[in-house]
Amino acid sequence: MDWNLTADQQMVVDMVRDFATNELKPLAAHLDRTGEFPLENLRKMAALGLMGMNVPAEYGGSPVGAVAFSLALSEVARACASTSCTMTVTNMVAEAINHFGTEEQRLAFIPKVVGGDYPIGSFCLTESQSGSDAAALSTKAVRDGQSWVLNGSKIFISHGAYASVLVVWARTSDAPKAKGISCFMVERGTPGLIIGKHEDKMGLRGSNTVSLTFDNCRIPLGNLLGEENGGFKIAMMALDGGRIGISSQAVGIMQAALDLSVEYAKIRQQFGQAIGRFEAIQWMIANMATELEAARSLTLRAAWLKENRQPFSQEASMAKLYSSEAVNRAVKNAVQIYGGYGYTKEYPVERLFRDARVTTLYEGTSEIQRLVIARQLIEE
Ligand SMILES: Cc1cc2nc3c(=O)[nH]c(=O)nc-3n(C[C@H](O)[C@H](O)[C@H](O)COP(=O)(O)OP(=O)(O)OC[C@H]3O[C@@H](n4cnc5c(N)ncnc54)[C@H](O)[C@@H]3O)c2cc1C
Repeated sequence: MDWNLTADQQMVVDMVRDFATNELKPLAAHLDRTGEFPLENLRKMAALGLMGMNVPAEYGGSPVGAVAFSLALSEVARACASTSCTMTVTNMVAEAINHFGTEEQRLAFIPKVVGGDYPIGSFCLTESQSGSDAAALSTKAVRDGQSWVLNGSKIFISHGAYASVLVVWARTSDAPKAKGISCFMVERGTPGLIIGKHEDKMGLRGSNTVSLTFDNCRIPLGNLLGEENGGFKIAMMALDGGRIGISSQAVGIMQAALDLSVEYAKIRQQFGQAIGRFEAIQWMIANMATELEAARSLTLRAAWLKENRQPFSQEASMAKLYSSEAVNRAVKNAVQIYGGYGYTKEYPVERLFRDARVTTLYEGTSEIQRLVIARQLIEE
């Protein structure tokens, strides 16, 4: 077993850390305060190759492997969690098109997702009545001449107002649940694609989250991704990889919480000494650091399995479950270490506390991860 990064992986980490520290971190509080979407920074990230890290170069990607992607995403999340949300979903969308698309579709769509004016892809699965039970979705697509016509609506779609390509799941037959679902690619600006309510969220406030309506939204027949009525497996496969992304995001936020906690513990004086000299503070920091290493190891192991084409679904769920729960413990303790100041917006731990919260919720709640893990153990 070799725990060292390869020279290429280290190069990616160094490059992304440098970029994230200089360009993303200084903007994070502003995005949180204003809810602005960091389009310019995302364009810069696309220019650095960060939006298509698992797709081939001939489609505009910069394939570095799942491990380097995870490391890069953690660096971005450490600087700005909102931006890391857009990065992980966009990479997931590009990868799904690469995996399930025809050559013609790859050439037509992937360069738009990973580059261009809107280097952003959206993943449109959740509906108001189908969250964890995603196969209960009710958006419909019917064939009409040379088109598919979509009707229905989605909620909680990350950066849906800015995506160049949206992958959308819709029902294409009366077959029950997952059996009657297909996957489509809808381009930005398609008539009938209506951007709805922008969610006023607790955290990740620089990541635009919207509802979408498809009102007789007509797309070419060629925008069907994968097989007709075989689209649900695309969502499930994409989410397996996506969970490595959310786990990496949690690792990045945890690293930021630890960095800030250590820094503050050294400088804050009470009872005539730095608070870092109190055992109670040391224990919180020690737990945070230990759980961070555990989360990082689980995440990188899942990424390594994926990169080496081995089954990784269970490991991705374990990593996501553990990291997302651990980051919430870490940010809670970071606020504790900062005392009353941690409860104010003057200090970044308050933002981390809110940003971390979503990691146990999206791309499958902790309960759903436990279900995935237990099912594989019990039913295999
Ligand atoms: C900021 C944000 C961004 C998001 N981005 C996207 C996106 O880009 N694309 C997209 O498609 N979706 C997105 N989502 C949606 C997200 O994936 C869902 O919110 C999530 O899957 C949970 O669904 P739900 O909110 O409907 O909760 P529900 O499914 O209603 O769950 C409610 C509670 O019941 C529990 N529960 C449900 N079923 C079970 C069960 N079988 N066993 C035990 N407990 C259960 C859940 O764990 C949870 O605690 C986003 C959500 C947020 C908050």
